[in-house]
Amino acid sequence: MKTLVCIRPGLLEYNSSERPQLKKNHAIIKIKRIGICGTDLHAFEGTQPFFNYPRILGHELAGELVEFDNAPGFEKGESVSFIPYYNCGHCIACRNGRTNCCVQMQVCGVHVDGGMVEYLSVPSSLLLHSEGLSFDELALVEPLAIGAHGVRRAAIVPGEFVLVMGAGPIGLGVMEFAQIAGGKVIALDINKERLRFCKNKLHVAHAINASTDDI
Ligand SMILES: [Zn+2]
Ligand SMILES: [Zn+2]
Repeated sequence: MKTLVCIRPGLLEYNSSERPQLKKNHAIIKIKRIGICGTDLHAFEGTQPFFNYPRILGHELAGELVEFDNAPGFEKGESVSFIPYYNCGHCIACRNGRTNCCVQMQVCGVHVDGGMVEYLSVPSSLLLHSEGLSFDELALVEPLAIGAHGVRRAAIVPGEFVLVMGAGPIGLGVMEFAQIAGGKVIALDINKERLRFCKNKLHVAHAINASTDDI
């Protein structure tokens, strides 16, 4: 199969490798969409300290479930995304249900090779149903989940003001979920275009330019 490998900072190269074989408790996904995260851009720039090279990038993924072992409720051929954080399952954080704090966390496309491939093997336990989302939408589940998680932890009460500092992709997700939770969002950034986008597309209550407005 074809793979796109970041050989070293500044160089992406097409290679070919064997298609992954089905392993116990794993699933094979035929990749259909790959979101480009800021992390991927930093990996390409060589400014992301977690990276070793060569590395196959890509962790915002959507695809078709080709085959699987031990994935109850899933069907061959269905559209899926998956959680690209491979936790160990037995460290103190994992045992306490804080799998995001796993001491041996392996992020797909960061610490281990990711989704810029035709077929990817992932742990079956991390598969997500599409719930009717298109491939384009499914590739956004991972970045949007970060904002959703933050908003859930903030326990926003309807009607309260929510200040979101930074109107990048993750910040936009935070704003959207904060509004769904009933918050009145104040977007804060130093980039005029991003603030205009928040006003015009997300219809946030207020947008403040931290470098020019009198806060
Ligand atoms: Zn990312
Ligand atoms: Zn762990």
